[in-house]
Amino acid sequence: MTTLLFNENNPKQLLQAAELIKNGEVVGMPTETVYGLAADACNPDAVARIFKAKGRPSDNPLIVHLADFSDAVNYTSYIPQLAYKIADKFSPGPITMIFPKNDRIPYITSGGLDTVGIRIPAHATARKLIELSGCPIAAPSANTSGYPSPTEASHVMLDMNGKIPAVIDGGKCQCGVESTVISFDDDNTVRILRPGFVTKEDLLTLGCEVIVDNAILNEVAEGEKVSSPGMKYTHYSPAAKVTLVEGDSESFSAFANKNKSEDTYFLIFDNDILDNDCNFLTYGSNSTQQAHNIFSCLRRLDELGAKKVYVRVPDKNGVGLAVYNRLIRAAGFEVIKI
Ligand code: AMP
Ligand code: MG
Repeated sequence: MTTLLFNENNPKQLLQAAELIKNGEVVGMPTETVYGLAADACNPDAVARIFKAKGRPSDNPLIVHLADFSDAVNYTSYIPQLAYKIADKFSPGPITMIFPKNDRIPYITSGGLDTVGIRIPAHATARKLIELSGCPIAAPSANTSGYPSPTEASHVMLDMNGKIPAVIDGGKCQCGVESTVISFDDDNTVRILRPGFVTKEDLLTLGCEVIVDNAILNEVAEGEKVSSPGMKYTHYSPAAKVTLVEGDSESFSAFANKNKSEDTYFLIFDNDILDNDCNFLTYGSNSTQQAHNIFSCLRRLDELGAKKVYVRVPDKNGVGLAVYNRLIRAAGFEVIKI
């Protein structure tokens, strides 16, 4: 199969993409978080094609994307009032809420769970594609399972060429990390299962309780029960071995000098300074920039032939928690404190 590259500004190609989805095919789709692999969430054969293209474990559920939150009642059996408040404030946008599912969502989509994650994307092209397709769209990140998420159409092409019929090019993703995933412990308590652009502080403004799940920062023990299946898988890892290094700019520079080699790279903040003979990439000077750049940097390091990568640990507050969460998984929880 040849994978076609569509342009988001070409209405005919968007219609063609929607036709593919109606026919049970999978299409690469831009969103404001990362690129997704879009298919009809209610068609088990279409959803099976997503799992196959990604090589995704069958118990890792897919998020269902809708054009409007008012449509969520059609695929769920209970929505707490708090969810409407959250949707009013943060949707459309980078937040996924988990609810008990109804029969319209097949178990293949929910990874065998009785719940379903619902998100209303803000990206105009994603919304248009949902409307034109006339169905809820299951869309996991459009990377090969385990590899860093795609934030440009070229990343999707690299991972999915020959496996899906088309990718819609919508330029670079605005956020750069996947949506915040939350579930409801009770009608007034939200549990963050995956950190993203909607932060704990943002959710607290609604007057609810907010719990940050332990698995966000800590490794899940083998066999341990998790609230979100994605937590237990290796994630976001380039071929290079990634290690996080926790320390200030000066001590990182000294660390780099001691550990430099031809195929060792350092991933640093924009304003960090390393000796001339150290290989490095910069990933931003604040959390928003770092979120935007992190996945493309991890992919770029592989292109450069890096074998070892040492990353200066980001700030863990606000959006920084999302960046840290992706990096610590890319590093298989290896952190050096200097
Ligand atoms: P991705 O599709 O790559 O953005 O990953 C989606 C992640 O959202 C999964 O790995 C899960 O951890 C989480 N998720 C999706 N649906 C559910 C659900 N019903 N219950 C718990 N976690 C979910
Ligand atoms: Mg993913």
